[in-house]
Amino acid sequence: MTEPAIQDPVVVLGAGLAAVSFTGGLRAGGFAGDIQVVGDEAELPYDRPPLSKEYQREGAADKIRLDLSRARDVEWLRGTPASKIDTRRRQVQLADGRCLGWGTLVFATGATPRRLPALQQAPMPVITLRTLDDARRIRTALAPGVRLVVIGGGVIGLELAATARGLGATVTVIEALGRLMSRCASTTLAAVVARSHVEQGVDLRLGRQVTGFAGSALTLDDGARVGADLVVVGIGVIANDEVARDADIACDDGIFVDRLGRTTCPGVYAIGDVTRQRNPVSGRFERIETWSNAQNQGLAVARTLLDPTAAPYADTPWYWSDQYDLRIQVAGVSQGDDEIVRGDAAPGAKFSLIQLHRGRTVGVTCMNNVREFSTLKRLLGDAPLPHRAALADPATDLRKLLAAPKG
Ligand code: FAD
Ligand code: NDP
Repeated sequence: MTEPAIQDPVVVLGAGLAAVSFTGGLRAGGFAGDIQVVGDEAELPYDRPPLSKEYQREGAADKIRLDLSRARDVEWLRGTPASKIDTRRRQVQLADGRCLGWGTLVFATGATPRRLPALQQAPMPVITLRTLDDARRIRTALAPGVRLVVIGGGVIGLELAATARGLGATVTVIEALGRLMSRCASTTLAAVVARSHVEQGVDLRLGRQVTGFAGSALTLDDGARVGADLVVVGIGVIANDEVARDADIACDDGIFVDRLGRTTCPGVYAIGDVTRQRNPVSGRFERIETWSNAQNQGLAVARTLLDPTAAPYADTPWYWSDQYDLRIQVAGVSQGDDEIVRGDAAPGAKFSLIQLHRGRTVGVTCMNNVREFSTLKRLLGDAPLPHRAALADPATDLRKLLAAPKG
């Protein structure tokens, strides 16, 4: 029988969801060796999705801590980044001078928000949102009547815009492209989301860029000025892969991994947002920046490290986003060359979208339609597509339709 690949001691870099999921998975799988997790944040591990939603409303940090009960006997080294690794000696150097030896090293270092140099000297607070610390600063500044300008019409910016409207702030969203959520939503979904924000009173500036500031206003590339008391920048993230890159591990804005989480260096693995992996739906190497990937890739790599016969990681990527009363769920690829609309694609409505590429189902989206999401996900891949008209009719019982023989 093949030996398990894991070697004692295990050192994990980064203390976010992927690290917690991985270390919990190792202990649940019976691993009894030493585990050390090195995190650059002073905080104990916490969940990020609430930072743009519940945390802004409630401010309760204790409610968003990750459950560490499965990750028993793990040593959490907090508040110090790993600065360098030596793959020959199998040692990692921490910024505070400590040096740790590893048998198995795992990168779970996540990603860092891109910044906007044009606003470096701006007089109002300009904040990106990734950490609890960022969320605290935003929460302190958000109040009824505050003029919030969000730069970037992606998931972070839009979730925060929705939350801020609920808290009584005046909100402007500036997006460089002509549509919202270009990275992760179809044009149909993006149009519904845009209409919802406008209906909620958001001033949406599509196809516009911020060029700088003049006094307490931001200046845009069409000459407009937008008054701002607080600016939140959500223009995407960059993988925290520099320590791996410096050690000649193959990276390209993300550490390349296979389905076992292996990097190009023996004994070194990577999981979560920092990875660049083959998307099983698109077939391309991509960064999959979602909660479910961090959770499930972490668990899967723990399993395959302990048991060489366990199934490699191959989950379909998916995410959710909550904005106002919109519950958005997207799986697979967000945009195909053809789309089936099931229901009325309008703000406040319940509907689903099925994305096709060359006749194959590559993506599904549910809006306020949580019950259908897992059933629709079964269409992804090479499953034969049921009759199109029946699929588009929201009155059709999906479970029966998918169970019926195709003809
Ligand atoms: P991270 O959570 O980023 O953790 C990595 C950790 O490693 C960080 O603490 C980082 O500081 C640390 N680190 C980096 N470099 C070093 C180093 N050299 N040494 C030591 N430590 C280091 N996804 C969804 O699917 N749905 C949502 O609704 C959703 N909402 C979100 C809302 C917000 C505001 C944010 C920021 C993200 C949201 N996400 C959501 C995405 C999801 O949270 C991430 O995909 C997930 O947190 C990734 O986990 P991770 O462990 O890979 O990385
Ligand atoms: P996204 O990549 O989703 O969106 C950023 C948007 O900003 C893109 O549309 C981008 O356009 C646009 N943009 C880029 N530069 C500018 C500019 N100069 N001016 C105006 N717009 C600009 O990133 P986010 O920052 O929204 O999210 C960051 C991370 O957080 C991601 O990892 C995401 O997965 C995660 N997250 C996930 C959530 C969820 O799944 N619900 C919720 C919140 C965060 P272009 O494409 O042209 O660069």
